[in-house]
Amino acid sequence: MLGAGSGFVRAPSSFPPLPRQARPDMSDTVRNRLWIANEWVDARAGAAFPTHNPATGGLITRVAEARAEDVDDAVQAAREAMGNPEWRRMNPHKRSKLLWKLAEALEANADEVAALETADNGKPYFESRKVDLPSIVENFRYFAGMADKVQGSTIPVSGPFFNYTMREPVGVVGIITPWNFPLSLAAWKVAPALACGNAVVLKPAEQTPLTALRLGELAAEVGFPPGVLNVVPGFGPTAGAALVRHPGVDAIAFTGSTAVGKTVMRDAAETLKKVSLELGGKSPNIVFSDASLKDAVRGASTGIFYGMGEVCAAGSRVLVEQSVYDDFVEQLAARADQMAVGDPMESTTRLGAIVSEEQLDRVMGYVEAGKSDGARLVTGGERTTVNGKGNFVTATVFADVDPGMKIAQEEIFGPVAAVIAFEDVDDAIVKANQTIYGLAAGIWTRDVGKAHRVASEIQAGTVWINTYNQYDSGSPFGGYTQSGFGRDRGWEAALEKYTQVKSVWVALDR
Ligand code: ADP
Repeated sequence: MLGAGSGFVRAPSSFPPLPRQARPDMSDTVRNRLWIANEWVDARAGAAFPTHNPATGGLITRVAEARAEDVDDAVQAAREAMGNPEWRRMNPHKRSKLLWKLAEALEANADEVAALETADNGKPYFESRKVDLPSIVENFRYFAGMADKVQGSTIPVSGPFFNYTMREPVGVVGIITPWNFPLSLAAWKVAPALACGNAVVLKPAEQTPLTALRLGELAAEVGFPPGVLNVVPGFGPTAGAALVRHPGVDAIAFTGSTAVGKTVMRDAAETLKKVSLELGGKSPNIVFSDASLKDAVRGASTGIFYGMGEVCAAGSRVLVEQSVYDDFVEQLAARADQMAVGDPMESTTRLGAIVSEEQLDRVMGYVEAGKSDGARLVTGGERTTVNGKGNFVTATVFADVDPGMKIAQEEIFGPVAAVIAFEDVDDAIVKANQTIYGLAAGIWTRDVGKAHRVASEIQAGTVWINTYNQYDSGSPFGGYTQSGFGRDRGWEAALEKYTQVKSVWVALDR
């Protein structure tokens, strides 16, 4: 999966202090039922599952658990919305206005929504409030601007015919999202899907369902008709699979692990849905000896430690030219040691909680694998708590990593950097591409020719040169190779994913 965020992820010291109201009363904002046809409903079987605050282990609430029959209700609601002239024939300027109003509602409620995200996910509040929320708002504004520009073309065909194309909605879009950027990743798909006139059934990750539910509610408040956006929290193999297999769903937009992505593609084949997959990564961040070492160290640090490394585009393989290797490792380790682990709501915290105990166990398993495979643990790798509670781990740097080691091949989804040495440009390219993934890459050099040559040789959907973790609503993001296919963000990618083309022929001589 990917990392969200708007613009450059700045050095921690430049984040402004948190507002006073950063700890709202959660009881006012937690919504915990299914959101179908603009109404709160219980799951038909009456099931519910707990969602915890990973920083404290405390129960936030129990959330209604959608199963196949509830997913069916949501799909029916979405199909009705597609048949409802109020949505299907809505003036596109009005659709644009609704998306803009949703952006405004998110902006007006940003403190509360960001706090909800942090409570559910464990990420620092400054990340959810100062990076995620502004980016989400911008994303809805961007796609508000697209809603009245979804248009076809006229084609100069031979014969006495007039031929034109129309860009029509695909229909009901099932959106399945992961837990690392819960609202951002939902927004990346919901906004363009609605801009193109589709109806949506959103299945958020079971670890972090709360902000998606709030999004559904806010969409109704600003005037989206019933059934246009439905939210069905539940588990992957039940609710997720039911959505993917449902014959009433026309397209699936998925962000998650590569393993589940393969299952989704298989399950969607039966009904030939249009599928897009944004999957895992093991992105190389390549540092040449002629780079500004200070900038490269900073970029490598944010590349792997931002969002606790629970970022699909995390620069988890740091490839460093041999001649600067030792200096680089020393400086990266020093920066890692400054990544203060703490209460996600504190403004001094740089590393929040890992989303779940299960995920922390996975991360620790990789730390052990790194050690036993012979990599050198330079710093970090310690499981810890804050105030005696929660799932935390210190920022970790492994040096002397061989590209074939497990920690250099598998997506860890934690703050663990694997630093690998390379000899020259050709060696860097070979090592960078020595992966099944192709989501993102970073290149650090002052040599502009080298930068562009390497950028063109790397198998990755996004390449950052002398920067890392840059995102914008207008710039497409997605994978090469086993990081998936289809792009989020950018209007061209949205047209491709959320519309279908109809070609209309008119005889002119009869
Ligand atoms: P992660 O490793 O980030 O948890 P997953 O791929 O396991 O990523 O989960 C991403 C999303 O996919 C979640 O919403 C999860 O519930 C959902 N999911 C998991 N298994 C399936 C499945 N078999 N079919 C559809 N969705 C699934």
